[in-house]
Amino acid sequence: MIILSVNAGSSSLKFTGFEMPSEDILISGVFERIGIDNSFYTIKLNGEKIRKEKSLPDHKVAFQILIDELTNNKIVSSLDEIKGIGHRIVQGGAYFNKTEIATDEVIEKIEELSSLAPLHNPAAIIGIKAAKDVMPNALQTVVFDTAFHQTMKEEEFMYAVPYTWYKEFGIRKYGAHGTSHKYVSQRMNEILGRMDTKLITCHIGNGASICAIENGKCVDTSMGLTPNAGLIMGSRCGDMDATVVTYAMEKTGMSPKEMNDVLNKQSGLLGISGISNDSRDIEDGIKNGNERCLLAQNMYVKRIVEYIAKYYVLLGGCDAIIFTAGVGENSVMTRKQVLDKLAILGIKVDNEANEVRGIEQKITTDDSKIPAYIIPTNEELMIAKDTYSLVLQG
Ligand code: AMP
Repeated sequence: MIILSVNAGSSSLKFTGFEMPSEDILISGVFERIGIDNSFYTIKLNGEKIRKEKSLPDHKVAFQILIDELTNNKIVSSLDEIKGIGHRIVQGGAYFNKTEIATDEVIEKIEELSSLAPLHNPAAIIGIKAAKDVMPNALQTVVFDTAFHQTMKEEEFMYAVPYTWYKEFGIRKYGAHGTSHKYVSQRMNEILGRMDTKLITCHIGNGASICAIENGKCVDTSMGLTPNAGLIMGSRCGDMDATVVTYAMEKTGMSPKEMNDVLNKQSGLLGISGISNDSRDIEDGIKNGNERCLLAQNMYVKRIVEYIAKYYVLLGGCDAIIFTAGVGENSVMTRKQVLDKLAILGIKVDNEANEVRGIEQKITTDDSKIPAYIIPTNEELMIAKDTYSLVLQG
């Protein structure tokens, strides 16, 4: 059976087609500049990457082209072989704690939550509607980035602001990257051979979050009402004194929208270094003696260490620390700096083992009190697995 995992942005559509239950990837790719000029798509098929320029007026056309590619390349002989389509949804609020079938009622709720994810939720709805139009016989599911974090207790997810804000506006912590934290924690449990574990998962990409997980359930996570909380990220500030915002607005005369833009797009590594939001550029800058890159990296690492230490105490110990996503999987330097700063917990980096990128690997010595692992994330597979189980349930 074929399951598609899709992630619709306002002008893009990423997709991966899996054969299930074998989990083999049959096709993957992305449609870009949908609804804009110069649109194109790229597909990966049989180890080959193909790019095609094509007019993409809307997401429905993109899905139609995807179907043509699937049939022309003989991945499917009939549309009915595609049994399920799983859609990634950024914000599920407090409504959703698991993957759901995309009924009209569910779509309405996702729409309602758009004010918390204005760029993402409306785009995902466009994707769901287009997929339903083009593949009406496939089961459409919605997989929420926030669902995994719904096990947080009130004392973890509340902000110490007037309680009425929570009741009236839903202001609380929802977290993000839940599908990734769930995937790598499940994989870690498979490696450890047990479920009763205390794990700290570090999803460090351009966006970044850390999660404290006990017995497979999220206890706390670093992202908040929106994905701009917790860690310092590529261009997001993460945690800081809330008064910085109102004070800087008074000083600069910025509107809430302008301020939101600065905090999300011009802060983090980019804001401090003044050079880039990309860790590779920061590392190059450090090698070339750039002091602001060094400062940015030191702040970045310090924040990750603070969260791991905090979650170690919260969990009352830790069976493994996991690094994943762009920086977590690839930055030898960031992993080493983080783990070296945690030496007080008896953690010892295996420098040779750590000298790898993008593969599953233990990166601490055998006598390290807590092992640390790189586990490449696979949100697309997690989406496909959840969708597959709902298809099986009929
Ligand atoms: P993601 O959001 O998970 O796709 O991660 C993207 C980020 O990963 C980039 O912006 C870089 O900061 C980081 N990254 C990717 N490759 C490397 C690398 N080889 N070394 C350091 N950082 C990397």
